[in-house]
Amino acid sequence: MNRALNTTPPDLDAQTIREAVRNAGVVGAGGAGFPAHIKLQAQIETFLVNAAECEPMLKVDQQLMVQQSARLIRGVQYAMMATGAREGIIALKEKYQPAINALTPLLPGNIRLHILPDVYPAGDEVLTIWLATGRRVPPAALPVSVGVVVNNVQTVLNIARAVEQNYPVTRRTLTVNGAVAKPLTLSVPVGISLREVLALAGGATVDEPGFINGGPMMGSLIASLDTPVTKTTGGLLVLPKSHPLIQRRMQDERTVLSVARTVCEQCRLCTDLCPRHLIGHELSPHLLVRAVNFQQTATPQLLLSALTCSECNVCESVACPVGISPMRINRMLKRELRAQNQRYAGPLNPADEMAKYRLVPVKRLIAKLGLTPWYHDAPLSDAEFSTKTTTLLLRQHIGMSAVPCVQKGDHVVRGQRVADIPQGALGAPVHASIDGLVTDVTDQAITVVRG
Ligand code: SF4
Ligand code: SF4
Repeated sequence: MNRALNTTPPDLDAQTIREAVRNAGVVGAGGAGFPAHIKLQAQIETFLVNAAECEPMLKVDQQLMVQQSARLIRGVQYAMMATGAREGIIALKEKYQPAINALTPLLPGNIRLHILPDVYPAGDEVLTIWLATGRRVPPAALPVSVGVVVNNVQTVLNIARAVEQNYPVTRRTLTVNGAVAKPLTLSVPVGISLREVLALAGGATVDEPGFINGGPMMGSLIASLDTPVTKTTGGLLVLPKSHPLIQRRMQDERTVLSVARTVCEQCRLCTDLCPRHLIGHELSPHLLVRAVNFQQTATPQLLLSALTCSECNVCESVACPVGISPMRINRMLKRELRAQNQRYAGPLNPADEMAKYRLVPVKRLIAKLGLTPWYHDAPLSDAEFSTKTTTLLLRQHIGMSAVPCVQKGDHVVRGQRVADIPQGALGAPVHASIDGLVTDVTDQAITVVRG
């Protein structure tokens, strides 16, 4: 049968699948890069594909689901074999109709689609699980505590390639959107510079551009376009430097704190719209802002609740009427608390009765963020883009940095392992994404130049 439509994978044992996924260096492509083979060690009831892609400008998963629908379903089946899951769910939005049409006729009996509302942050995995299964993950707990493992679309496709073809993660699909001549979604070798990616999209169309790595809500400011693409690069968003989304990210921490001290009116809108608070977590951003402003109101438990903030950015970009960023304040608290090895433990309260109605409609979000003039379709290109030089970061994942296993002067071929993780350690190996010569090895990165 044509593999493009074949959704019946061979029967494989769990260890074979995990080993193939580990060897291929598959990490969570949608977030911090958690090594996928570790997630596949859990024994759970439900494997959930998070296909919400709720960051408004990113168009990757919704198009890959159309282009590679059968591979996605086989990937879900491999993940179910490894985790013992009886049920697979692909959670996506109604507006991804081409993906729904492509997937529906291929679904085996134990995998279903779940249609999510077009709200932000439907793709926060705690919210996705709640919307798709009704189960609520307690604060600071992992999805496995409610019998679920979550991966996004690109991760599951990488799992399928790893199992079927021993194909390591050497390419990344990302969207370039905003103020560019040719907004598009494209597949590039890991390690290519964002400068080259921008050129593939025809370059910036504004005189003084600013750049965000990822989407407008959770993406981070890009300091240099020499930054290489990694296995987790979410997208490249280009906006005028004067755009509020760029300016807010350029604010230093002292300014963030002083704005909070000066103008917080304790209206508690940030808490009323905080998605984690709405589903019953203790996290209450207005109390954390107050605790930072008036330290006599800060209890250790309150401060620790900052560790459960998902950094979804709703409090800063949607809720606060006076320009405060509770999220940035939480980020500062998290940094301090983590440095002290502190952990949070707290209750799971009843969900707010209005929770589903307080999530933010994406159309409204696009207007509120001032993105309407910069919002484009960014169609998926079939072209096999390549490059002359790649910078392969040794840390593209959670855990320890990969350890180089090549030296300056070595010739490598695409797919060859160039850095590894000791057996048993948390992390993922790194592979060459082009054929070429190793021209530099540092404790941060390996440079490979075509030739
Ligand atoms: S929404 Fe803004 S002003 Fe209102 S409590 Fe939160 S931080 Fe303070
Ligand atoms: S970023 Fe703000 S709204 Fe989002 S989880 Fe954290 S405190 Fe809540």
